Order: sequence, then structure tokens, then C-alpha cells
Amino acid sequence: MAVETAFTGRRVLLDSAAEVGPATVYVDAAGRVARIEREYRPEGAAVDAGDRLLMPGIVDGHVHINQPGRTQWEGVVTASHAAAAGGVTTIIDMPLNCIPSTVTVDAYNQKRESFRGGMWVDVGTWGGVVPGNAADLVPMLEAGARGFKCFLCDSGVDEFPAVNEAHLRAAMAELAKKRGTLLFHAEVDTGATADAARDPTEYATFLDSRPPGMEVAAIDLVVKMCREFAPHVRCHIVHLSAADALPAIRAAKAEGLPLTVETCFHYLTINAEDVPRRSTEYKCCPPIRGEANRAQLWAAVVDGTIDMVVSDHSPCTPDLKMHPCCGGAPIAGAVEGDFVKAWGGIASVGIGLPLLWTEGRRRGLRLQDVVRLICERTAAHSGLAGRKGRIAVGHDADFVVWDPEEQNRITVDKLHFRNKLTPYRERQCTGCVHQTVVRGAVVYDAARAGADGWDRGFSQQPLGRWIGSDE
Ligand SMILES: [Zn+2]
Repeated sequence: MAVETAFTGRRVLLDSAAEVGPATVYVDAAGRVARIEREYRPEGAAVDAGDRLLMPGIVDGHVHINQPGRTQWEGVVTASHAAAAGGVTTIIDMPLNCIPSTVTVDAYNQKRESFRGGMWVDVGTWGGVVPGNAADLVPMLEAGARGFKCFLCDSGVDEFPAVNEAHLRAAMAELAKKRGTLLFHAEVDTGATADAARDPTEYATFLDSRPPGMEVAAIDLVVKMCREFAPHVRCHIVHLSAADALPAIRAAKAEGLPLTVETCFHYLTINAEDVPRRSTEYKCCPPIRGEANRAQLWAAVVDGTIDMVVSDHSPCTPDLKMHPCCGGAPIAGAVEGDFVKAWGGIASVGIGLPLLWTEGRRRGLRLQDVVRLICERTAAHSGLAGRKGRIAVGHDADFVVWDPEEQNRITVDKLHFRNKLTPYRERQCTGCVHQTVVRGAVVYDAARAGADGWDRGFSQQPLGRWIGSDE
């Protein structure tokens, strides 16, 4: 009989349709779930979660690792450590901010090679659609890209230009051959700019330069393109911020179009009114909006209009944030804490679970909804429905063991990503991750931090794997 490893607990949640109850999950030598018994059996178990919750590992479908090329912003070791410490067992990298950007098979292969030996969790990547690379798309899908992302406005980096309707049509005709997925950064330039007469260290100056109409106009275009290629190309709106776009999204879904939508932890947990002056760690595009907008996003999460929640972890070095913490403004004409000129992006991979849970439980979110929003739906979105996001026979044995009742202050020593600027520092949450398991192997164990070979709780070996076409 093949060797099996057992993971057990009194409070196990297998998937979003299940109830919390005792279970023992037996994992085969290949790291897959072999069988499940609805009983608590601590004798000989590799992991005994006891009264803590054991649930599927989190799949974060929107992470900017920035390696190769901008590894000083973020790299695979630090990003996957942060993921592991937060119960995230799979991250899907974005095709931009690394150099080269992931828009050819060659660039895809460079990223895969660069990540070798540095992954503490499983990692895959989206490819990019840029003007003129339509012929590269099917080969990239065949190489293992999970789908593609494009920008309808300036991406912030020169290597990843925006596409227009003609580019989209060429790309989607290729994707239709393989039922590919296209992700849209859904903002278009509507002529809004920052008012030079206003104080750039005030958040409102930046917020008013990215009005909701930029998202609404972009999403109208996404829906139109989605309809044109339905049902052959699934279209996905990344990081929805503007609640004004929800009616168009609801209508498109009611029409039966293959459209999915994500929002991010920051849009659900932060109000524009609360962003302090000069605190550019809160800047991202589209921007965090006001409290009334946030309430509408929550309603859309609860009613299922918004399919999933991701981090959009997108850090940079502190100098590019022009943050007061690093003394001064590096760009000519910028001031310290300049919201208009600072790089946009929020660092948060691995801290989403307590953020979502703390805020969500007050709004009626159940643990099953958490599993649906950040495990199941994100796995399916990344083409991993049969393999990740649930605890089920034949699936990868990816688990997180956490305590949903435990108080947790997000102190800097708990931040494992490379650059520690984040709006969540010192935030008080409920919910604390204790262990993370990837394909049957413990990759993070808070209780072992400091023990021999368990630097800060991480396994000595990087046990994550590249998610390519071969699996
Ligand atoms: Zn992003």
C-alpha cells in the first residue's frame, strides 16, 4: 500500500458547499488527495489542526512578482514567502513590470527559468496582449500561460503598451481558437487629469484625476468585445473599483456573456476619506474610492456580481513611492508624498485572508463564501478548477490552517514581501494563519519559526512548482 500522509482537524471546510466539521484528509506520495474521512483522527497525522480551521489553500490570481528585471521591487522568493505565510498556496503572476514583459514564448520561458529554485508556493503566469503580438498568443497558451492581460490605458511601463479595439479584435480571434481568457485593466483615458493648482500631497487630488467614468467607459468596451466573441473568449475585469460600473456588469451577466469580475482586498477594506496626507502607499489605479462606493462593492460581492477577490499585490521601491519614510522626492517637480507622481500599486500578497474575513463577517460573509471568493473561483479563473481551490479527491493537497477568531495585528515582522510599505501596517484584524501546506508538504509553520532550518517559519526547501502546460 502506498504511503499516505494524514491531515486532520475538528473544523475542516472542504469547499464552499460543505459544512465545517471533523475530517481527516489522506494525501498520496504525489501530493494529491487520495481519500477523505469525516472523522477527526489525530494519531499519526502529519498535521493536526485541532480546533483551528483547515480549508483549501488560497489561490491569488493577481500578483506582480516583477522578476526578472525589476526584482528590487519584488522577487519570487519574497513574494512566495509572503504568500506561504498567509495561506496562499498558488499565485498567478502578471505579465508586466518584469523585464522582458511576458508577451512572447521566449519571455515566458525566461520567467519560468528565473523562478526555478525560488518558489515556496506554486506559481503560474498570465501572458500579455500588446499591439502586434497576436501570433504569439496560442503558442504562449500551449507553453502554459493561464490566459492574457491587456491594458486599455497607459500601463505605467513603456514595455507594455495599451491596445485599441483593432488590436483586441486581432488578439481575441486568436484566443477564440483555444477558448482563452482575456483580462482587462478596465480604465480608458477620458481626458481627466490632475489639477495642477491642487495640493498633490492630498489624496483627493489624485482621486479626482481617475474618475469612475474611466472604468465605466472601459467596461462598456469590454462588454461589447465580450459579446462579439461570445462564447469563445471569456473576458475578465481585473481590480474593479467603480461601483458605477456594476449595472453594466449585471446586465452583461444576465445576458449570459462569459464575463467575470474581480475586486481587491483594498477596495473592500479602505475608504478614500481615511487616506492620510502624503501616504502614497495607498495609491493604486483604479483608485480606492469613497465609503459609499465601498458599500456598493460589498453588496456586489455578497450577491455574486463580483466573482472573486484578489490582492493585486504591486509593490515598488520606496523612492518611487516618493514616500516621506525615505526622505524626499526623486523625480524632478515632485514633492515628498506626491500622490500624483508616485508609482501606483499596493503591497498585500499574503495578508488578504484576515483583511477579507475581518470586514466580511460584519457584512454577513460566511467561511464558505471566503472559500468561494479566494480559493474556488480564483482557481477556476486561472484554469485550475480540477486541481486547486477545493479539498477533493484527486486535487492537489493545498491547505491553510488558521484561526478565524484570533486577534492579529499586522506588524512589520509579519510582512515577508520585499518592500514593506503597505497601508495595512499596524492594522488590527481577526484571523491568523498558522500552517500552509502545498501538495502535502508543510511550507510554512508559524510554530516552527526559529527552529532548526525553519527560518521565520518557512520550510528550508522551496517546494513550490511552476504551473505550466505539462500538468
Ligand atoms: Zn495589477
